[in-house]
Amino acid sequence: MVTHGLANPPPTQHVLGVPISLLGMQETLDWIEDVIREGGSGYVCTVDASGSVMASKDPELAEIYRGALLATPDSHGIVWALKQRGVRECRRVSGIEIADKLCAASSRKGYRVFFLGAAAGVAEQAAERILLKHPGCRIVGTRNGFFTPDDDELVAKEVAATHPDLLFVAMGIPRQEKFIARWQAATGAKIAMGVGGSFDVMSGRLRRAPRWVQAVRCEWLWRLLQDPRKIAKVKLLPKFVLAVLREGR
Ligand code: UDP
Repeated sequence: MVTHGLANPPPTQHVLGVPISLLGMQETLDWIEDVIREGGSGYVCTVDASGSVMASKDPELAEIYRGALLATPDSHGIVWALKQRGVRECRRVSGIEIADKLCAASSRKGYRVFFLGAAAGVAEQAAERILLKHPGCRIVGTRNGFFTPDDDELVAKEVAATHPDLLFVAMGIPRQEKFIARWQAATGAKIAMGVGGSFDVMSGRLRRAPRWVQAVRCEWLWRLLQDPRKIAKVKLLPKFVLAVLREGR
């Protein structure tokens, strides 16, 4: 059972059945650090349009999102949906930025961080680059994310041996969320968070969209051009828009 040890849950607004956190970036970081300080534990989900469409067809994923400490709006699609529901003030709170800022906090406060996921060597490369950016960040372990569910327990034990405070899991939706929901307790991590393709970007193997591309809300197109396999995710966008509009009626 995941607990957060905090009295007040964050404000949320439902999008396709998922309670999306309305906290901004700094409030999200403060919330996560409060949980660590107060000895609680739990997981954070970073939800994008494709994840919320998947959850509408996958009851297990929907349940995992509902059980999160925070399900943050990780895409412009989710922010658009929140605005459709009457939320005036909201912005993207992306997994890659949360992870980066928590690594910065680690270098100040000593949080122990584990990077799990991506292809062989990528988590290590991401860790090296993060250490250059945030000297003193305590990355206590890294491991690639290509293993079968039969090895989940073994991997959870490997992570547990490093006693992490923060576990970032970059194995894509819904694999990372299902791994976290099932094995977080076994890893002993206080906070676990799915971060999708973040290690590919942190390692320098993929480039994040420039700010102007993000500002015109075309990060999805940028990612598609870098990785044409993303077409499967892009195809879910019209479904997402229709479902949000239908739900709002
Ligand atoms: N990945 C992994 N294990 C797998 C499948 C994928 O570690 O079994 C990694 C993959 O190498 C990539 C990340 O998971 O680094 C998925 O990134 P993506 O951007 O597709 O994530 P999403 O869009 O689902 O957030």
